[in-house]
Amino acid sequence: MTTSPNLTFNDGNTIPQLGYGVWQVEDDVAEKVVGQAFEAGFRHIDTAKIYGNEAGVGRAIANSGLSPEELFITTKLWNADQGYESTLAAFEKSMELLGLETLDLYLIHWMQPKQDKYVDTWKALVELQKRGRVKSIGVSNFTVEGLQRIIEETGVTPAIHQIELHPYFSQSELRAFGASKGILTQAWSPLGQGGELLNDPVVSGIAAKHNATPAQVVIAWHLAIGNVVIPKSVTESRIRENFAALEVKLDDADVEAINGLDRTAAGSGRIGADPAVSDFA
Ligand code: NAD
Repeated sequence: MTTSPNLTFNDGNTIPQLGYGVWQVEDDVAEKVVGQAFEAGFRHIDTAKIYGNEAGVGRAIANSGLSPEELFITTKLWNADQGYESTLAAFEKSMELLGLETLDLYLIHWMQPKQDKYVDTWKALVELQKRGRVKSIGVSNFTVEGLQRIIEETGVTPAIHQIELHPYFSQSELRAFGASKGILTQAWSPLGQGGELLNDPVVSGIAAKHNATPAQVVIAWHLAIGNVVIPKSVTESRIRENFAALEVKLDDADVEAINGLDRTAAGSGRIGADPAVSDFA
């Protein structure tokens, strides 16, 4: 069976480069589709407290017959729980729902600059790692300045930064900064949430050339440029199709053509909120 390649974090642990995300998946559906993802070959699951499906993911893990060593599970600390003590408490609650003793990766979900609690929150993640409750720690939706600040104030560099990233919004600045600090980049909404991107003629042309689907070509592009990538689908055939993207090998010209789709300069690439200003409750 095909397996995802692993990438190595700056803390020495590894992460399967292709994972499966479960945003906007109801708890009972999560149990079913995570089980299907395991059957397709995925071993890396990306959830979050705010998704409300940690229990469903936990049931899928328990039913899978797979051992914790064979799996890589990520969850995220929600904004309302930021702060040192509240982070420690929220972590325990997530672990209870997931039914796990040790977590592979814990992320601060959003930087929340206005709230300005992310340094204390990061200190709590550092403590959880020291205690051995979580193997690796990282952040999501930060800016370069926010990353610099947590590194300077704690001396601990995140293992990974999970950000909105797809061919229309390729995040060259954050990717370059991450690379300079040994921080892996993880792409959320990697398929652009399945909209216009999957009908883009450049993507479709490359898909036809490789006898692949547009979604597979976009996933293969993420893999080729070194991103960790976590596409979501609740349709079993697409879950399998997305995992099979591991077999699609793009050439340099394909990667260059997809790089050319970036709309950042035009100001129209981003789908989600801007971490520099976002302030979710
Ligand atoms: P995505 O880019 O993975 O797109 C998912 C959608 O694309 C599906 O709902 C479906 O409509 C379509 N799709 C999937 N596979 C397809 C296929 N093979 N063919 C055709 N269409 C297909 O979007 P996403 O769910 O926003 O992002 C993926 C994951 O990233 C999430 O599930 C979550 O785990 C994570 N995420 C994290 C954050 C964050 O703030 N950290 C934000 C958003 C998403």
